[in-house]
Amino acid sequence: MIELTGVHKSFGTLDVLRGIDLTVAAGTVTVILGPSGSGKSTLLRSINHLEKVDRGLVRVDGELIGYRQAGGKLYELGEGQILGQRARIGFVFQNFNLFPHLTALENVAEAPISALRRNKTEVYELSRALLARVGLADKADAYPRQLSGGQQQRVAIARALALEPRLILFDEPTSALDPELVGEVLDVLRDLAAAGTTMIVVTHEIGFAREAADTVIFMDEGRIVEQGTPAQVLDHPRHERTRTFLSKVL
Ligand code: ATP
Ligand code: MG
Repeated sequence: MIELTGVHKSFGTLDVLRGIDLTVAAGTVTVILGPSGSGKSTLLRSINHLEKVDRGLVRVDGELIGYRQAGGKLYELGEGQILGQRARIGFVFQNFNLFPHLTALENVAEAPISALRRNKTEVYELSRALLARVGLADKADAYPRQLSGGQQQRVAIARALALEPRLILFDEPTSALDPELVGEVLDVLRDLAAAGTTMIVVTHEIGFAREAADTVIFMDEGRIVEQGTPAQVLDHPRHERTRTFLSKVL
């Protein structure tokens, strides 16, 4: 379970997150919608301490992220401990962020070997299985430049899975793709959802939200404006701002 309480984040005078309270149950899919600049990426980055929040707490399975609490005070964790926590929270970016000089297989295997120091033979076996899971068994030896955007993004998803994360955060995973490649990536996300992977997905793919999300959240100006089932938020939004936004993306 993921729990954010009273999360605030500013950049200089710009208040980007203005008090976020959010609970995501294990095994569920949460889709976050909202206009550009509303704080969606900052929220995701706060969950794995890529952004250090100004106020509030983030917990994953009860474990405080980025800090330890002692005698009522918070102390930031050391870099090694933060990297350890981050390794168990998958992150998939808009622009894939694969290592260009590594093959698909090496990209997937890299972190478990270098960060977790796991057995190479086992990791390569697991990585091949993960590439097969995302439909890329035949592309193990291809370099990123030899792959389409959709294939690169599927490698990036396999790479996130290789760390056996407690949850995966997706930041607009299909928005850099040509329209005809969006479907193959969303299919992988649907498979993960069906397998009970805990996911938070920032996306404008309303169709995906409708089918795959347990919870849809609409954010605006650093706040959660509306939250509910896909039917509640997408078909019967209660707030004018949600309605205006949906009328633009639907
Ligand atoms: P988009 O849909 O365009 O990706 P978003 O909802 O993900 O938008 P964020 O990236 O979270 O929005 O940014 C929220 C606001 O915070 C924006 O105004 C952005 O310019 C600002 N911001 C984000 N990161 C930084 C930073 N490191 N330094 C200064 N300002 C930042
Ligand atoms: Mg963003």
